[in-house]
Amino acid sequence: MQTPDNLFDRNKKWAQQIKKERPNFFSNLAEGQEPNFLWIGCSDSRVPANQIVDLPPGELFVHRNIANLVVHSDLNFLSVLQYAVEVLEVNHIVVCGHYGCGGVKAATDDKGHGMIDNWLRQIKDVQLDNAEELKGLSGDDEINRLCELNVAQQVKNISTTPIVQNAWENGQNLNVHGWIYSLEQGEISDLELTTSSNDDLG
Ligand SMILES: [Zn+2]
Repeated sequence: MQTPDNLFDRNKKWAQQIKKERPNFFSNLAEGQEPNFLWIGCSDSRVPANQIVDLPPGELFVHRNIANLVVHSDLNFLSVLQYAVEVLEVNHIVVCGHYGCGGVKAATDDKGHGMIDNWLRQIKDVQLDNAEELKGLSGDDEINRLCELNVAQQVKNISTTPIVQNAWENGQNLNVHGWIYSLEQGEISDLELTTSSNDDLG
């Protein structure tokens, strides 16, 4: 188990190591950021955005919440999205879910979890919308398919926000991707759900 003191020690070593290899790394980054990706992922400690795609600071603009949900009334998320699209002008938005997601599991286990059930309600809706397909699956297969379907729904939710709709109308090159990460393999798969215009929404 790490302690807060450990984290300061680790941070100092990390920063010193980078400065040794690239003396201007932090001073350049301090001037500003130009990430080309907005990353939307789960808060799960096992899916740290930069680490799983092996990217240093400055490359990803990140929003994480439980079960990587895009909720149209979530001002926190919408602020991140607006800044990423309109100010940073990212070309790619990635929704990266993961198999074995605890949020997806909790949404399907029919137990009460308190306040968080309001948040997880979105996943329950995905489950209901896809009941026919999910009926033939059970156990981990059912959860993992629901993890994929949940990513697909969030890609749709992002693509239909006025922020993305306006960007497309203005001819901005903006692609929304749906990916999923395997905790067991440490690898990401493309669910091939990419939307780049309203034509892709079907
Ligand atoms: Zn998760």
